[in-house]
Amino acid sequence: MTKRALVTGASRGIGAAIAETLAQEGHHVIINYRGNHAAAEALLARIVAAGGAGELACFDVADPAASTEAMQALIAKADEPISVLVNNAGITADGPFPGLTPDDWTRVTRTSLDGFFNVTQPLVMPMVRKRWGRIINITSISGLIGHRGQTNYSAAKAGLIGATRSLAQELAKRNITVNAIAPGLIETDMLANLDVGMLKKLVPMQRLGRPAEVAELVRFLASDRAAYITGQVIAISGGLA
Ligand code: NDP
Repeated sequence: MTKRALVTGASRGIGAAIAETLAQEGHHVIINYRGNHAAAEALLARIVAAGGAGELACFDVADPAASTEAMQALIAKADEPISVLVNNAGITADGPFPGLTPDDWTRVTRTSLDGFFNVTQPLVMPMVRKRWGRIINITSISGLIGHRGQTNYSAAKAGLIGATRSLAQELAKRNITVNAIAPGLIETDMLANLDVGMLKKLVPMQRLGRPAEVAELVRFLASDRAAYITGQVIAISGGLA
């Protein structure tokens, strides 16, 4: 049976790879993004050309009102609940702590952490009624071990890990799993302004990860095969720990 899957921040990078992978699994994929219409439309076209199905949902996950409105519209659109949710939208605003502005702090935490709440909360009761669900939160190695210049980002991602563990306990009896994936350094636009040569030296495998490698883990966690895994944080980082 076709399941509806929502991937936030899916127009580019890791989210786009996850959307394509879930479409291969037969899910109807809802592609959320914030503003890059061209990239989102190109992704949907690729999914459809490969025989998959999906739709676009442009809204800002950091905006509670916009997220609630979008979730209500998506819930009302079909009888089948959104039963796979990948909270992937995230941004960085790196800098040494003394130089961080309130805006740097708020933009980052609102996107990763508040975004999780804004999108997940309206979708949980329909999942509970269905007695089946998969919630997968894309956090970061930075939320586990911290990283210089990322106090805001590490705080947001560590908060997401705490939310994952608690919600997993609340929903376990309902056949809904909640897990987090903590990528290390993955080759996307997020690393565009960084010194990739230097970054690779930090990784025991001496290379960056690929978005498709993260998507493979999502493919598994979203499946029935992962039914007994919940409340976990799984790193995918080439040994970076
Ligand atoms: P990218 O910068 O390549 O893409 C970010 C995506 O998120 C885009 O689709 C963007 O939409 C969307 N987005 C950003 N803000 C919002 C928002 N407020 N509402 C809705 N969508 C939004 O990021 P990555 O693919 O690299 O990262 C994906 C996730 O993985 C993030 O949570 C990130 O923190 C995490 N991660 C990434 C790592 C890496 O090395 N790349 C390492 C560890 C974790 P649009 O195109 O419209 O701007």
